[in-house]
Amino acid sequence: MSSLTTVFVSGGTGFIAQHIVKQLLKRHYRVIASVRSRAKGEKLRDNLQSENFSTTNFLFEIVPDIGIKGAFDDVLKANSDISVFLHTASPVTFDVTDIKKDLLDPAIEGTRNALEAISKYGPQIKRVVITSSIAAIQTFGRFAKEGESFDENSWNPISYEESLESPMYGYAGSKTFAEKTAWEYVSKNKPNFTLSVINPAMVFGPQAFPITNKAALNHSSQAISKLLELKPNDPVPEGKGAFVDVRDVAHAHIVAFERDDAQGKRLILLTGPYNNQAIVNITREDFPTLDLILPRGDPEKGELHDISKRWNNEATKKILGFEFIGLEKSVHDSVQQILGDSL
Ligand code: NAP
Repeated sequence: MSSLTTVFVSGGTGFIAQHIVKQLLKRHYRVIASVRSRAKGEKLRDNLQSENFSTTNFLFEIVPDIGIKGAFDDVLKANSDISVFLHTASPVTFDVTDIKKDLLDPAIEGTRNALEAISKYGPQIKRVVITSSIAAIQTFGRFAKEGESFDENSWNPISYEESLESPMYGYAGSKTFAEKTAWEYVSKNKPNFTLSVINPAMVFGPQAFPITNKAALNHSSQAISKLLELKPNDPVPEGKGAFVDVRDVAHAHIVAFERDDAQGKRLILLTGPYNNQAIVNITREDFPTLDLILPRGDPEKGELHDISKRWNNEATKKILGFEFIGLEKSVHDSVQQILGDSL
């Protein structure tokens, strides 16, 4: 792909998307990002400038709500040079009262709106990458079964009705049904573009730009920032899963449209296991000033269990061809940025 290619990124101010924007600009792509307000777009542009990115190749367009019919039509009518469309925008929150309206509709309809706009107003678009999640792949909670294993062909069997039971299931449903909408659209309409999907695990790692408001950090980054607020005698809360670093997730979005062998594929972005005690152990070891401030917990519980029988993403790794960042670096860089000068 030529470096003059124009790439559109929906949800450009998101945690993952800001890293995608930076990596695209570094690779000399032209970037158009959708943001929900002018103020958010200007802040993103200012942040890029403050890190010495030339913003000649950066533009933003305002799309306040991806879930509204025709949400992307004007952007694509106005920018006929876009040839790659990265759809990252989707609600990532569990603090919702109306699961259908706040989670399912924007995720599913947002995806449908993106694909319909491309078919109608972006016939020159050749590559589409959608950010899904391992939530669209694995079962969890009351649906989990002993000994299950997952790979790029697995689907979360959750039903639409089951996803209305709680915000956690609602998020899983939103990712599952949004991703299914995309694959079904492609199989039914045989569009001009090829589709690739990125399915990340829990995403850790630093924000693309300095943090100005810790309370407003995206959901997955709060997993680490909340542990840093513990007092010496607090218990370390239970919490475990599979993680990946945000810089790898951003990189994968680019490989997904650049490489022919990534077309039509789901790519599982998963590095390995994590648990809260392991995060605390890494933090106490790497930052001696925190040793007396953070609880010690039970360091032995920080041992990470092998999840290679549960998760197999070898096919993804072969396509991506780069090494994933490990838990220690991901946690170290996150903590360093969150605590900054107070370290
Ligand atoms: P994030 O920081 O919350 O980013 C989400 C982006 O989507 C934000 O720019 C948000 O805009 C935008 N958005 C949400 N609802 C919207 C709507 N109705 N209309 C327009 N824009 C809307 O979260 P993230 O972690 O970067 O997530 C990005 C993508 O990765 C999502 O698709 C998410 O499901 C997926 N993912 C994330 C993780 C993770 O652990 N972080 C794991 C797997 C998959 P505002 O902020 O302005 O509201």
